[in-house]
Amino acid sequence: MDTRVDTSVNAGLEERWETVRRHLRDTALACGRDPRDIGLLAVSKTFPSADIAALAALGQRDFGESYAQEAQAKIAALPALALCWHFIGPLQSNKTREVAAQFSWVHSVERLKIAERLSAQRPPTLPPLNVCVQVNISGEASKSGCAPDDTAALCAAIAALPRLRLRGLMAVPQAADDAEAVRPAFRALRALRDDIRARGAVTAADFDTLSMGMTHDYPIAIEEGATWLRIGSAIFGERASSAP
Ligand SMILES: *Cc1c(COP(=O)(O)O)cnc(C)c1O
Repeated sequence: MDTRVDTSVNAGLEERWETVRRHLRDTALACGRDPRDIGLLAVSKTFPSADIAALAALGQRDFGESYAQEAQAKIAALPALALCWHFIGPLQSNKTREVAAQFSWVHSVERLKIAERLSAQRPPTLPPLNVCVQVNISGEASKSGCAPDDTAALCAAIAALPRLRLRGLMAVPQAADDAEAVRPAFRALRALRDDIRARGAVTAADFDTLSMGMTHDYPIAIEEGATWLRIGSAIFGERASSAP
């Protein structure tokens, strides 16, 4: 076997990643933002660790995963790489221990009980776990996320947990054929973050994150203030249709 030929390499991966980065930068500059204020989370769910290693070699550091079990296997397969893992999917109580030990961020906290478990289970050797509250900002069909009216109270409760660092809000607005249709949801998420900050429920310096914007709407999310973009298919290619 010729070891120089790696058949697992995802064709076009580097080019797509560069395209997204260029587009991120150009869009940020066009709307007067500093591109360095906008993080790019490569959402690697359903894609193999070989793809993650290839992107890591190019300098991509932050990766997003939605399924604890799948993520665990990949994290174990990439031990030598100093990557930053972000959990972005629905989180059940029986998976909080692994997530608290292996991830740097959880974007998808929607209940206090999950936050309390993450805080209690965060290993003492690690810095506090960065978390965002997922908000059901447009009443989307998926019903994931905290109701907007309950978000300030949930944030205040999470801010009091010792091993979590509450960083901001996250949303997955309902996808639409016209990406413009999600702009009001992004705007509402930003307004909610600013309102919670203004009320002083959490300290302003730490509560700075808006995790919003995916493959089909990230330029609009940049214009509306996103600080983390979560981008999967524009970087890795289309996921198998059976994947959620
Ligand atoms: C899969 C997923 C993404 C990435 O979606 P793309 O449309 O492929 O960019 C972002 N956020 C969450 C929560 C996801 O589950």
